[in-house]
Amino acid sequence: DLYQAVTNQAGRYVQGGGCTSVGVAGLIHSGGFGSFSKGFGTAASGLLEAEVVTADGRALIVNACTNPDLFWAIKGGGGGSWGVMTRVTLRTHALPEFFGGAWGKIKASSDEAFRRLLARFFDFYSTHLFNPHWGEQVKIGSDNTLEISMVCQGLDPRQAPQIWAPFFAWVKAAPADFSATNELGARATPARHWWDIEGNPSMIQDKRPGAAPGHGWWKGDQGQVGAFLRGYDSLWLPATLLQGEQRQRLVDALFAGSRYKQIGLHFNKGLAGAPADVIAAALDTATSPALTEAFALAIIADGEGAAYPGMARAGVDLDAARRDARAIDRATAELSRVAPGAGSYVSESNFFNPRWQQAYWGEHYPRLQTIKRKYDPDGLFIVHNGVGSEDWSADGFTRLA
Ligand SMILES: Cc1cc2nc3c(=O)[nH]c(=O)nc-3n(C[C@H](O)[C@H](O)[C@H](O)COP(=O)(O)OP(=O)(O)OC[C@H]3O[C@@H](n4cnc5c(N)ncnc54)[C@H](O)[C@@H]3O)c2cc1C
Repeated sequence: DLYQAVTNQAGRYVQGGGCTSVGVAGLIHSGGFGSFSKGFGTAASGLLEAEVVTADGRALIVNACTNPDLFWAIKGGGGGSWGVMTRVTLRTHALPEFFGGAWGKIKASSDEAFRRLLARFFDFYSTHLFNPHWGEQVKIGSDNTLEISMVCQGLDPRQAPQIWAPFFAWVKAAPADFSATNELGARATPARHWWDIEGNPSMIQDKRPGAAPGHGWWKGDQGQVGAFLRGYDSLWLPATLLQGEQRQRLVDALFAGSRYKQIGLHFNKGLAGAPADVIAAALDTATSPALTEAFALAIIADGEGAAYPGMARAGVDLDAARRDARAIDRATAELSRVAPGAGSYVSESNFFNPRWQQAYWGEHYPRLQTIKRKYDPDGLFIVHNGVGSEDWSADGFTRLA
């Protein structure tokens, strides 16, 4: 609804989520990323003002001048911990003329060729894509595949394919080592139609009875609809890993980790390489500052198809689920070697993260605790691994401290 109103109808840009199923209030509390966050920042940093009903029943206006502490806390301090957000005012930006992307899937014929492919890709990424234009992701597969699903903003239909041409040419020049299992390509199209649902081959329209005509989701997100997760983890990878000899360590870690599980690198969820004002705005939110030093968020996750209560389907294979969960832990451990103490994105993270305070909020955690005590002294709003939850039993009903 937000994209339809702001972009399709008004011709402006607003920072919402990448997946169209993501709401607004939870996204702002998460920090929150869209496909173009490397250019426009997080959803939290786009918040100008909100109305929040706090634990004592008051409806407070929060902004940079009025209740600035609560304003800061709801910008990335985690959903369900501060009050009920009932109204928001978000910053909008001029809409670039074009959005676009690059796509394809490359399979290497050997482990050695795959390492070379990764090394070449990160050379290419560091010199051509590590900037505010490019976001979204690549997937590094256990089967020696590199799947590209990247997006760009502010590049015209000539520039986007031109940027990728040397990398694609390098891949095609070595057919014994690399094959494109999905066509390789890049393009840009008018930004105003990016979130069109009808007639957009990248979107699936919500055809359920009563669904609004402008509702739908990206085809690429279909696997997430109702998914049953077996495990999940994420790490912010520092941009220093792109520099000099560090780049080889990054490649080695990604190769080693991908032996256990596919690793997704979400470049739009790390703000290193973003404009200075975007970095400054993100540093003025509760999210861990590690976000601004990371070139990408690595996500390692797996699951199976939709599993709703009451739905007729085969039972969950618990042994396979546990094997998957362990494999995710092992892949994460390989990346942790090159990113020790890495931060993690609160809303796409490991439910069991033992150091969640530090991982989600870093040095901001003590300040968040102080604000929590001020606005919710009796702990009305407690969620799993949310600010202040360490003082409560796991079900959130009994105060421990
Ligand atoms: C399929 C899927 C795709 C995703 N894609 C992205 C993505 O592209 N980018 C990204 O950054 N994140 C993504 N996420 C994570 C997502 O940002 C968070 O789940 C976010 O919280 C969703 O916002 P929501 O408004 O839908 O919140 P909900 O999921 O409804 O709620 C999340 C939390 O926020 C609280 N909350 C909700 N509304 C309010 C309110 N009005 N006031 C106070 N607290 C509230 C809830 O109590 C809950 O604790 C995705 C998650 C899923 C499951």
